[in-house]
Amino acid sequence: MKTASILGVHFHAVTMDQAIDIAMGRLRAQEKGYVVTPNPEIVELCRQDSAYMEIVNRAALVLPDGIGIIYAAKILGEELQGKVAGVEFAEHLAAAMAKEKMRLFLLGAKPGVAEQAGESLSAKYPGLVIAGTHDGYFTDPQQAVDAVNRCGGADVVFVCLGAPKQEKFMAEYMDELHATLLCGLGGSLDIFAGVSKRAPDLFIKLGLEWFYRLLKQPSRIGRMMKLPKFLLIVIRERLFGRKGKSSK
Ligand code: UDP
Repeated sequence: MKTASILGVHFHAVTMDQAIDIAMGRLRAQEKGYVVTPNPEIVELCRQDSAYMEIVNRAALVLPDGIGIIYAAKILGEELQGKVAGVEFAEHLAAAMAKEKMRLFLLGAKPGVAEQAGESLSAKYPGLVIAGTHDGYFTDPQQAVDAVNRCGGADVVFVCLGAPKQEKFMAEYMDELHATLLCGLGGSLDIFAGVSKRAPDLFIKLGLEWFYRLLKQPSRIGRMMKLPKFLLIVIRERLFGRKGKSSK
């Protein structure tokens, strides 16, 4: 698979359809692995923690989530096939799984949210089997592992614990979990449950989803300011090569 390196994170240059084909192929072959969907914040965390970077780069699929990654690829002259947002990948995968009556476990978010997300996904994609759910505020990760294994396992687990918790959880417990593919998907369960809303299509098309989220939730300004900083680091990497990597 062709990759595009952005500050050390090796993104897969795939379209949404290709990403779903790869995921479904792995599910049918029962080939274990996990999917990550890094945005600029995750790339920044990787730069600060090399063990975390390794976890991200070991993923079966590293999908470019968000317009910031697309800008970064353009600046660096790296080739990507466009954005593959985590929440959209999750929707498409649920639809493909439904056709083959596959089992999905939902892990993460506040108590009650995963159940609600499960109800909305199974109503939207008849055939999809919700194998079980568990909230994301466990004290011992073993509780979450047991919940997946006790329900008879699943083809896919959506792991929605936020970064870096979800990626670390997937890498550490992949072998123990009775599941083929784990997908780290941030706040996606909140969106499926209707707890938080995605931006209207026009904002998404114009690459302004971040702006919509800022309008709805001005407290995100601190997180948002990381984006221009990230792009400055990318520009420095482009101009001065690897020097940009070690400085903060
Ligand atoms: N979350 C969780 N357990 C935790 C911390 C967070 O389940 O210990 C959930 C949180 O409720 C939210 C998701 O993880 O549903 C992360 O959301 P965020 O908006 O940070 O993710 P993004 O999509 O922006 O990466």
